Amino acid sequence: MSEPLLDVRDLRTEFSTDDGIVRAVDGVSFTIEPGQVLGIVGESGSGKSVTCLTVMGLNDAKFATSTGEVLFRGEDLLKAPGARLREIRGNEIAMIFQDPMTSLNPVHKIGRQLAEAVLLHEDVPRKQAYARALELLKAVGIPRAERRIDDYPHQFSGGMRQRVMIAMALINNPDLIIADEPTTALDVTTQAQILALLKRLQEDFGSAVIMITHDLGVVAETADEVIVMYAARIVERGHVRSIFNEPRHPYSWGLMGSLPRLDMNVERLYQIPGQPPSLLNPPAGCRFHPRCAYAMPICREQDPALAVTGTDPSHEEACHLDAETKARRAAELVSSLMTGAST
Ligand code: SF4
Repeated sequence: MSEPLLDVRDLRTEFSTDDGIVRAVDGVSFTIEPGQVLGIVGESGSGKSVTCLTVMGLNDAKFATSTGEVLFRGEDLLKAPGARLREIRGNEIAMIFQDPMTSLNPVHKIGRQLAEAVLLHEDVPRKQAYARALELLKAVGIPRAERRIDDYPHQFSGGMRQRVMIAMALINNPDLIIADEPTTALDVTTQAQILALLKRLQEDFGSAVIMITHDLGVVAETADEVIVMYAARIVERGHVRSIFNEPRHPYSWGLMGSLPRLDMNVERLYQIPGQPPSLLNPPAGCRFHPRCAYAMPICREQDPALAVTGTDPSHEEACHLDAETKARRAAELVSSLMTGAST
């Protein structure tokens, strides 16, 4: 088998705070192959964004310490000097954030910002950089791009700004794009358009994508593989079909139960009871136990390890429940989601 594009091994990231040490990522391992889409899903504070910021070397070194390995084509990014990381960012790995206004400069025209980004990485005449900017604006579906290239960011809608950010990420045809909640700030229709665009561009450009989201629906639309994170750890992972056909962790059941359905109004949407734990002092045993309807005495004492307990050898979950209960509950949930019955 070929070498993975990204191989993250036992990644741990801690932040020193006035209140103590926050272990924001705690023993996370995963790989991503060239051209693959990996969805990382979880509530805020689950460690999904910090995992990706650590991969990109974007945590504040004054407060953050990371251990483990982040092998990008075999090169450990945790050990790479700042200059090398800057070279990789924007060239080989690009990032798309939730709020494009924080990444776009409000006082410069869209075309100029894109052209400057081209010039940062390519030694080409300015005219050629503008031509590339225009080509990218067209590729991401900006209507009347020849005119809109001279607009300022505030003249674009939220969805159009996010398209510009995607164009920015594509400038160097990166091997890996990390998209952190790229559609969260958008309305449902625009959200669907942006996801379809990302999927199409990922296929056209052949980049691998890590899609970070709190929304399993986004993952269902885009991902090949899925990681579910809770309280700084991976609690379930597998192929997207396997995760949706047979979710095996109670936290994933909660996330799935809270997916909007056509037969349900927003007020009736299920919410997982309670709040994610503080990572300053997470609960002993399974970190989900204070919120889990299936918690047993062992769950308060022993931390479950990721293991295969079903029929798919690439699907793992960290939960003490017996395999039959997981299979039965998964079947009930999936059937209720398909028929619209309440669970
Ligand atoms: Fe719930 Fe126990 Fe499984 Fe944790 S290990 S998810 S508390 S049943």
